[in-house]
Amino acid sequence: MLIGVPKEIKNNEYRVGLTPSSVRELTIHGHKVKIETMAGAGIGCSDEDYVAAGAEIVGTAAEIFATAEMVIKVKEPQKVEYEQLREGQLLFTYLHLAPDPDQTAGLIKSGATAIAYETVTDRNGGLPLLAPMSEVAGRMAPQVGATALQKANGGRGVLLGGVPGVAPAKVVVIGGGVVGTNAARIAAGMGADVTILDKNVKRLTYIDDVFGPRIKTQYATIDDTEALVFDADMVVGAVLIPGAAAPKLIRKEQLSKMKPGSVIVDVAIDQGGCFETSKATTHADPTYIIDDVVHYCVANMPGAVARTSTFALNNATLPFALALANKGWKQACKDDPHLAAGLNIHNGKVTYQAVADALGYDN
Ligand code: NAD
Repeated sequence: MLIGVPKEIKNNEYRVGLTPSSVRELTIHGHKVKIETMAGAGIGCSDEDYVAAGAEIVGTAAEIFATAEMVIKVKEPQKVEYEQLREGQLLFTYLHLAPDPDQTAGLIKSGATAIAYETVTDRNGGLPLLAPMSEVAGRMAPQVGATALQKANGGRGVLLGGVPGVAPAKVVVIGGGVVGTNAARIAAGMGADVTILDKNVKRLTYIDDVFGPRIKTQYATIDDTEALVFDADMVVGAVLIPGAAAPKLIRKEQLSKMKPGSVIVDVAIDQGGCFETSKATTHADPTYIIDDVVHYCVANMPGAVARTSTFALNNATLPFALALANKGWKQACKDDPHLAAGLNIHNGKVTYQAVADALGYDN
């Protein structure tokens, strides 16, 4: 199969669909890979690296869209990209179609088949192509929160790990899923006093088994959530109710009960955030302060560590990319219902129920 990877064009997106190692795996399996020149520049991979892995470098994205049988990307196609997709072509990337009627209409019109990373499933009911980005965002959360806690950034001047004779910071993580456990692990590693809240007792049991007394667990009643948040130096928002907006767990009028200079890292901001005062920010201007509480609400945290994120994403996507290339999408989806769950658009129709429901299409 001829596989094409255009350079990402969304603002501040440095990740790339395939690493040189992934290209090598695909070419060893007999496939041809075309990469747009400089596509890997943002993650420190040169055109020469891709050529050494077996790719052909092409000068424009147009050459890729015109010839590739499968286009592999990271972000959802922008207008200029989906206008170049065509019937019979396969697109494998993040799509997030439910809140995006224009892109959905564009993909339908293109006649292309689109498999979305974010709806591919695994046998445990997880989302294996979303998980690596949650791991990245979770591990970044204490890092960005620790910076926000510094005086010059509006924080209360508390060092996460304390020092001998001075207590460490209290970090409260709301939601003990992929983001939450990764955030807690790093915060505990930095020496903080960490508590995870969750409503799922099985999840709390798992965390307790894995981390032991290094990380405290607490069932997330309203009472305990409020008490822990009001006493925290840093709160990480990491809840998810699949398919729904994040629940607002702390309302605006409660914010003043938090310690002055405390920090909220609301990772769940891409689902609206779990604090009423959270609004999406960017890496260029990541924080703002309300009622003396510093808010960090960057909606695409993994973009800041594009190199790590690209390699982590490829580790998860490569087996699926290989199956799609080796068997063709129809057979690959027949053989693997979890990959088939990724099918969002085919033959001018929305084929994913939640997207069809959200946007009013028949499927
Ligand atoms: P996950 O499903 O693995 O975990 C979510 C956890 O929240 C679950 O354990 C669930 O039981 C718990 N939960 C739900 N409601 C709760 C409540 N009221 N109180 C306490 N716990 C509650 O999800 P995840 O992969 O960890 O993702 C968490 C959020 O982070 C999602 O909104 C995801 O989209 C977002 N995210 C954001 C970025 C970013 O860059 N900002 C990056 C990756 C993920």
